[in-house]
Amino acid sequence: MEFTQSFPRHETKQIMVGDVPVGGGAPITVQSMTVTKTADHEATLQQIYALAAAGCDIVRCTCNEPEAAEGLARIVPRSPVPIVADIHHQYRRALEALEAGVHCLRLNPGNIRNPEHIKLVAREAKDRNVPIRIGVNGGSLHPDLYKKYGGKVTPEAMVESALDEIRYFDDVGFDLIKISVKASSVPLMIEAYRQLAAVTDYPLHLGVTEAGPPPIGTLKATAGMATLLAEGIGDTIRYSLTADPVEEAKAGRQLLETLGLRERKNIDLISCPSCGRAEVDVVGIANEAMEAFGEREIPLQVAVMGCVVNGPGEARDADLGIAAGNQRGHLFVKGQNVMVVPEDEMVGTLVEWAEFIHEHGADAALVKAATTKDAAKRAAEEDRARNLNDRGDDANDSESVIAEIRRSH
Ligand code: SF4
Repeated sequence: MEFTQSFPRHETKQIMVGDVPVGGGAPITVQSMTVTKTADHEATLQQIYALAAAGCDIVRCTCNEPEAAEGLARIVPRSPVPIVADIHHQYRRALEALEAGVHCLRLNPGNIRNPEHIKLVAREAKDRNVPIRIGVNGGSLHPDLYKKYGGKVTPEAMVESALDEIRYFDDVGFDLIKISVKASSVPLMIEAYRQLAAVTDYPLHLGVTEAGPPPIGTLKATAGMATLLAEGIGDTIRYSLTADPVEEAKAGRQLLETLGLRERKNIDLISCPSCGRAEVDVVGIANEAMEAFGEREIPLQVAVMGCVVNGPGEARDADLGIAAGNQRGHLFVKGQNVMVVPEDEMVGTLVEWAEFIHEHGADAALVKAATTKDAAKRAAEEDRARNLNDRGDDANDSESVIAEIRRSH
């Protein structure tokens, strides 16, 4: 039985971004941002469709010029997901984006500083029932706060920036708020979100800003967001990667699925790290399998193991798996051998059986294997015995290395 851990969630209020709930126990959502010119509404919509297909729940577009607001007016009615307008320095763009019908605004308190302008936007958003994200960014902190905290960006300064903005919103009775306190430093953003979660129950949008290109950017963002999510902090997430935004959406979706915070949509491929006992190029076969499954919506755990000695046992919790042995693959379902296939058919057979199990269940697959499973079991035992005979218990040949070390003393 697969072990699952549920992380108690920090209780937050719920807001609606279009028809997507954020906070208040709603499923954690994945966000990303288009990189097209918003004024080019066709190109932007193409990217929004691609993001939605990759599992993105909410998409943000920049609204940096009046033409972008006009683009939003064309994008919003055709978008399959709610649209957030990112407002930079001009409060007028926020008013235009609201007019264009966006489902949420993002304001950076470090960039729009005039309290009257902030309140004007909040009043207009309130009238239209549109939420606002207070998006504090470590790299563009309000200069007064920067000075107050000794010319340093600290978690306290970032939290204070968010709370200052909330006070302006309070003045006009606006509370459809979510907050982010992003930084490119992982320890800084973790501490800022922890402090923020301790003093507010508004939903939180997590992110490590300017994380960089994958894989290091993905790793940094994962380190920050996963730490917080495991503490129950965070209601919506965004990977900020220097990459195609579709990569951000996929990474977001995968992070939530990995933590058991969203239902699995695609294959969970597990594969052994390979070792001296491997009888196949595990890296090559695992990559080939990843490619073959692609975007297929098959929410099963599938294993690719390098040998039949330990493979089926180590992957016994997988729904389906294949272990290599003597130029052939041993297919197993729920740990039971069901079929033997030539090495070059391993991946194709894996995909075929995954589709069958997804449609009919593992029990039906075991019934389907009624005529092949006895022979498959015998073949696996033969290959297992042969591997042990050839490679012994010490598959990595450590003993001869140790003997060599002793000789050189
Ligand atoms: S013992 Fe077999 S299954 Fe385990 S890592 Fe080595 S090759 Fe992979």
